[in-house]
Amino acid sequence: MTNYKNKRVNEVAVILLDRLASLEDKPSILRAVELKALYAEIPLLPDSEKGLFGKEINALKMHLAELVAAHKDDTEKLPAIDVTAPIDINVQTDKTPRLLSSQFGSQHPLVSEIQYVCEIFYSMGFNVEMSRQIDDDYHMFDSLNFPKDHPARDDYDTFMTTEGFVAPAHTSTMQNRMLKKYKDNLSLKKPIAVMIVDRVFRNEDLDARHEHTFYQAEGVYVDKGVNVGNLLATLKTFLGRYYHQDIEIKTQPSYFPFTEPSFEIALSCPFCKKEGCNICSYSGWIELMGCGLIHPNVLKMAGIDPVEYTGFAWGGGIERLVMMKYDIEDIRYFEAGKLEFLRQFK
Ligand SMILES: [Zn+2]
Repeated sequence: MTNYKNKRVNEVAVILLDRLASLEDKPSILRAVELKALYAEIPLLPDSEKGLFGKEINALKMHLAELVAAHKDDTEKLPAIDVTAPIDINVQTDKTPRLLSSQFGSQHPLVSEIQYVCEIFYSMGFNVEMSRQIDDDYHMFDSLNFPKDHPARDDYDTFMTTEGFVAPAHTSTMQNRMLKKYKDNLSLKKPIAVMIVDRVFRNEDLDARHEHTFYQAEGVYVDKGVNVGNLLATLKTFLGRYYHQDIEIKTQPSYFPFTEPSFEIALSCPFCKKEGCNICSYSGWIELMGCGLIHPNVLKMAGIDPVEYTGFAWGGGIERLVMMKYDIEDIRYFEAGKLEFLRQFK
């Protein structure tokens, strides 16, 4: 197959053509050490042989490049497959693929816990709404009172497309939409009471407590005369029902551009009843979520008069709640798809 006049070039050509056939990363053949070695041998040759030797190496390299390019054309001609379809749609085979029977399946723990959280809030008079998994800069920042170029935007480092779409870093992206959607409640003398739940995204360094993709739940409540006491009572009631025990909560001041005043909520450790354990780092308290009274500018941007109405909002990660409920030590288990983990929740 190879007919290079130079014996060395011929030898290398046989080796490389043979390797190319079984190579998965075909273009890497053009960086093969044998090829580099041939070029390195040129200066060592007598002047009379250099010309032909160099020419033949170039010819070999060109030949390899053509083969790589031809292979690429082949792969482009492969029929398209639907990666979301069951295996037997894409693989034409007489044998039935070995799939687990659905009787061994179960709901993902996050799905059942999200349903449970929604049920509790629904019973407290909240409507439940889904968020979006792609949104825009206005709903991510502007409608939530983040001034342009304000450093607070850096706390919500997420993924963006070149067209300016944002993978929401929190469910608060829905606040403006929900306030507008339920605004008419207020003139009917009914409060706006909505719970929003969905996936959110962060550009995070991953570890046992941080994931790039997780679920968040968010509450928004607006009426006349709403105060911090209403906020704390709502959260305390929810947490007590979620953990099936009387939970104490404490607040510490925090900062979010879309609430004023803003708080972080910590709850008394449901495992050790404040005596100290490894889950609460022996402090007796676990920090859980951010909350506060909705900033007047956020109400104004949704067309609600902040002099007449006030409201509260809170938001927190669902995984965190579930991890504490079942003593799960690593947040990455939720998205890992490991059956050993999932089967424990059957
Ligand atoms: Zn504890």
